[in-house]
Order: sequence, then C-alpha cells, then structure tokens
Amino acid sequence: MILKNGLKLLAVAVTASAVTGCIDWSDKNTPLPPGDVKNIIMMIGDGMGPQQVGMLQEYAKRAPNSVYQGELTAMEKFSQKGVVGFSSTGPEASIVVDSACSASQLATGVSSGSEMIGLDYVGNPVETILEKAKKMGKATGLVSDTRITHATPASFAAHQPHRSMENEIAADMVENSVDVMLSGGLRYFIPQAVNTDADVKQAITDLVNEPSMKIKSKRKDDRNLLAEAQADGYQLAFNLDQMESANGDKLLGLFHYSAMMDGIVHSATKEDQDRAQPTLREMTLKALDILSKDPQGFFLMVEGGQIDWAAHYNDAGTMLHELLKFDEAVAAVYEWVQGRKDTLVVITADHETGGFGFSYSRNDIPGPQSLEGEAFQEVDYHPNYNFGSLNILDKLHAQSMSFENIWYKAGGDLYGTLPTAEAIMTAFNEHSEFDITLAEAQDIVKQEENKYHVSGHPYLDTAMYPNFEDFEEFYVYGEYDHLDLIGRKIGKQQNIVWGTGTHTHTPVMVIAYGPVNVVKNYSNLMHHTDVGKTTIQALKRKL
Ligand code: MG
Ligand code: ZN
Repeated sequence: MILKNGLKLLAVAVTASAVTGCIDWSDKNTPLPPGDVKNIIMMIGDGMGPQQVGMLQEYAKRAPNSVYQGELTAMEKFSQKGVVGFSSTGPEASIVVDSACSASQLATGVSSGSEMIGLDYVGNPVETILEKAKKMGKATGLVSDTRITHATPASFAAHQPHRSMENEIAADMVENSVDVMLSGGLRYFIPQAVNTDADVKQAITDLVNEPSMKIKSKRKDDRNLLAEAQADGYQLAFNLDQMESANGDKLLGLFHYSAMMDGIVHSATKEDQDRAQPTLREMTLKALDILSKDPQGFFLMVEGGQIDWAAHYNDAGTMLHELLKFDEAVAAVYEWVQGRKDTLVVITADHETGGFGFSYSRNDIPGPQSLEGEAFQEVDYHPNYNFGSLNILDKLHAQSMSFENIWYKAGGDLYGTLPTAEAIMTAFNEHSEFDITLAEAQDIVKQEENKYHVSGHPYLDTAMYPNFEDFEEFYVYGEYDHLDLIGRKIGKQQNIVWGTGTHTHTPVMVIAYGPVNVVKNYSNLMHHTDVGKTTIQALKRKL
C-alpha cells in the first residue's frame, strides 16, 4: 500500500518534470501554464550587466529614501513569475562584444562580428526575429531612448557593415516598414537640403511642428524618409502630444534631433505633461496600444539605451537614473501582461559596461560602534574597512545633472574646449552630494600627449588626450573621457570602482516570463545566439 502510493507519487513527479524541465515550479508564485506564444516583447538594457541590475536592486530595496518605498522593482516582479538565466555575449571571433554585434546575435540567433548590423560573422545579411514576425503577419515595433538608428534597434531591422552608417540604417528601417518606431534621430530622416535651402528647412519645420526640435540633417543625399514613411501609411509624431493623438496602425515618432533625454532629466520632468519628449514608459505603452490591435500578434523590442552611455562615462548617479527609467518601462510591460497567457517577455542586456562595482576600501574607515548582540557586550564592533554606507545610494540618486551636462555647464564641450578646474569643481559640487577638490578638478581637466594616435579615427585622431594614471588603453573616446576622470576621482566617496571606459565580457542576466514550456528554455547558462534562437523558436509556436 505504502509502496503503491510511493510509486504513484514518483510517477506524478516524473510527469511534472518532463513538462517543466526538472524545475520545481512549486517554488514559483504563479507560473503560466504550458501554452503558445502570440506576442513577444524583448527588453534590452544596454550595458545593464549583473552589477548594474545589482545597483538598482540595492537602491530599490535598501536606500533609506528609495523611490520604490517598499515596492519591488519591475524586473524583480518578472523574475518571481518567470525564470532567470545567464548569457555570454561574445562575438564569433573576439572576447568582448559591442552593442551592434550583441543585438544582431539576439535578433538573428547566429554569431556576428564586431560593430556589424544584422549580419552573420562573415557579413551575410540574416533575417531577424522582427523580419520573421513580419512575414508571419505579426505587427512589429522598436522603441529606444537613444536614436532609432542606433546599434541596438538597428540590428533588428537593418543590415549594414558598420553601426556608424546611420543614414543607410534609417533607410533600411523605413523600407522594412516596421509598424511602430519611437525614438530619437530625426537628423538621419530629413534631406540634406535642410542645411542649405531655407524653403526645404521651413517645410520640414512646419511638418515637425515642435519648436524645441533642432532641424538639421546628417544625410548625404536628398532622400526625405519622412515623406517616404507617410507614403507607406505611417503617421508621424515629433512630440508627446502628437504621439498620444496618433490613432493609426503605423507610427514613426522621432522626438529629438539626436538622442532623447537622459535619466536625470527624465526623473526631473516625467510628471510634467507639457514635456516635448515622451518617456520610455510612455513610448512603450503607445507601442503596445498600436501593436496589440493586430489579431496575429506582434514582436516589440524596447531598449533602455543610455544605461550604457552613463557607464561609458563612469557616471554612477546618472546610471542609477537610467536604470530607474528602464525599470519604469519594464513596469509598463508588467502591467500590460497581467491576465494574459499568450505573451513572452524576455528582459536582458547586450553586455556589461564600465567594469562597474561597489567595493570596500581603506578610505574613511568607520570608527568603533557598540552593538547590542551577545558577542559585543565586552568589545566594540569595529570592521577593518569601509564597506559602503547605505546612504551612498541616496546620494547617488540626489545627483541632479549628468556629467556630460555638468561639463557643458562648466563651459566645456566635448570637441576641444576644456572647462577650467574651478568651473568644473563648482558645477560638479553644485549638482552632486559628493565633492571634488580643486586639486582633483585639475587632474580631471589634465591632458597629455596622445600615445595611441590613429589618423582619421573618429575619436583617436587628436594630439592630446585626457590623462589617465592607469588602464588608459581602456578609455577610448578622446575628450569624452574627461567625464570618466570625474567618476574615478569620486569613486572613493561612493565606494565605487570602474574597470574600464568600454565594455566587459561579464555574462548578462536573462529574465523570461510567459508560458512555462517556453520560458523553461531560458533557465540556463547560454550564449546570446541561444537566446536569439530560443526566442525565434518561440515565435514560430502556432496558437
Ligand atoms: Mg544600444
Ligand atoms: Zn557601449
């Protein structure tokens, strides 16, 4: 009798594990039952390695004045109802990936090469998941807070030998007829004549009808991709109001000449409904609104693209605000999927940026403290090092301007004009609860002879270069790297270290939410080509 029951239980356990891939799903709150996938939403935090996710988690849960006020991050909510995996990101023939190659691998499921857009590693175009979805009759969308032509969104809907070819990428994307595209990057969509012909400029200005928009073209031809899009049935939007009132099936929204607002501006203005630019969350909701009208379902990619940029500048305060911005978009998707069983959500990153970490140090070691526990009745509690006060999380959040904007405010630009040490010290100290001294500011603006000069290189063709004491080879963006010198100077006050001004190989997190038979495949140590393949497989599952 006992044996019989035991066998029956064993049989149930075996059946359950065959369905669920040996995961004990009883530990999960409410995994979705097995089923098919109609909609796929891929969310990419650019540069959002595990350290960056960890920073958001530390801030959300443990900052004394966290804006989450006891709520979980949207990423944590998804992880509780889905699975978490890890994925390596490297290109076919190198160790470290850039955003173009990484997104190409996610979009196609095959190995790509550095800085390539939508190609395999020898350079052949590969059909992307977005293109496959389109062929299946699904609606498609791309949303990013950078430029729509930037590496991450581009890799889903363009095929070009180099990520810098944003004019060609813009044309590919319009020709690909992606139903919803919301981001920045107007300068690649308007004819070069706007720069020389007042009538052409006026016509574009009237069409855009947003006074804050800079009307200037980067094109080398007179293609008017806005007109081409309109002829293909797109509505156009250039500010929040225009976006909200769009009511068709196809929408091209370009909300800035170049990149959209940074995370700190976002935090400061997101409640203001008179804003010209929509937030990442608002763009995501609009895309879901339009795409979900398609009875055959949709594929949508949403990028938080400036986490990477803040990390490239070693700007931890701005990076935190970028993570908050991205998590608000994730929260929008989380709310949207409630009650649905037909949608796969994959949240990941393309790589880690900055070699970032909170770290313990010998700076400012706290003094002895009395503790109430038994072990400390006779002795004081006195750790040997500074392990980082939780107040640092609030102080990072209190930063009120990005390093880039602080640099400009101090009178610098990133094309040869340096601010004075006094000006950068004053501007920085005004916008941060951490402080730099005049001696530190002098180091921040210091330059030396460029030891790695490359003629014709976009960043390395300069005689002088910001002066790094160590790891200088990993600071590769010329003038921009002065910003990293700020980050490295204040690191000791933030208990923060940065290993590089570029990317690291660190495997990134993959959170997958959806029908259990689909998401179980992401609970693995993978490579991004596997994430791409698995997601393409899911797309092909018929209802
Ligand atoms: Mg990107
Ligand atoms: Zn990057």
